[in-house]
Amino acid sequence: MRRGPQIVAHTVILATGVSYRTLDVPGLAELTGRGVFYGSAATEAPSCSGSDVYIVGGANSAGQAAVYFSRYASRVHLVVRGENLAQSMSAYLIEQIESIPRIQVHTMTEVTAGHGTEHLEGLTLRDRATGQARDVDASWLFVFIGAEPHTSWLDGLVERDTQGFVVTGPDLVVGGKRPKGWRLDRDPYHLETSVSGVFAAGDVRANSVKRVASAVGEGAMAVTLVHRYLEAQ
Ligand SMILES: Cc1cc2nc3c(=O)[nH]c(=O)nc-3n(C[C@H](O)[C@H](O)[C@H](O)COP(=O)(O)OP(=O)(O)OC[C@H]3O[C@@H](n4cnc5c(N)ncnc54)[C@H](O)[C@@H]3O)c2cc1C
Repeated sequence: MRRGPQIVAHTVILATGVSYRTLDVPGLAELTGRGVFYGSAATEAPSCSGSDVYIVGGANSAGQAAVYFSRYASRVHLVVRGENLAQSMSAYLIEQIESIPRIQVHTMTEVTAGHGTEHLEGLTLRDRATGQARDVDASWLFVFIGAEPHTSWLDGLVERDTQGFVVTGPDLVVGGKRPKGWRLDRDPYHLETSVSGVFAAGDVRANSVKRVASAVGEGAMAVTLVHRYLEAQ
């Protein structure tokens, strides 16, 4: 790896966010932001009033989105690659989805193409069991197939969870034990990582809310904690 100039600092705030995994199928990249959205896009919900909404993903984020969009859309189609939702979604959410007649779950189904010029107009869906493809009219597609934090460069430096998100504060103290290598006579501050003086804020942080307001709030809080840390040095 090429090394750039080095900067010496007493504290660091990590705020490198995440990249949302994208659906690599023809026609969708050009329509991103024009009917095709990745991750949370609650602001678009009122625009979907009275339309069919397609949601891709089988985990909780997709399920929560399906419930949310069902308040606006005439029908929500949840497109899932697996045989059922139980493999990847919490039971309470599955029950909620089953109780909303407007939500239709399409298991063993994948999106293989997007169509449209100025805005999304249609999708091609493929039945993974039979291989049969069909075209549907669709103006709205929300994709929830996971997010990857930008933390590979932190490997071996600060503690990360199994998905690579940076662990902070109380989550670092397990069974009353402070993180490995921790030398201070106090627990890590709320947004502090396993290395004292290094803080994390926003989407990159494990268990963060993944919303603009919370990322901004955490950034402000991290600055306050930096001051507290520096004053104690
Ligand atoms: C399509 C979409 C729609 C969304 N809609 C909403 C919404 O309606 N409402 C809402 O509240 N939230 C929404 N979100 C979520 C919201 O955008 C995030 O929660 C928020 O932006 C997180 O802020 P952040 O500062 O943690 O990360 P980011 O905003 O992702 O910023 C991280 C920055 O760090 C930079 N970076 C990464 N690695 C490095 C590095 N090694 N060195 C230097 N810089 C680096 C990145 O380039 C980026 O500029 C949406 C997200 C997406 C993707």
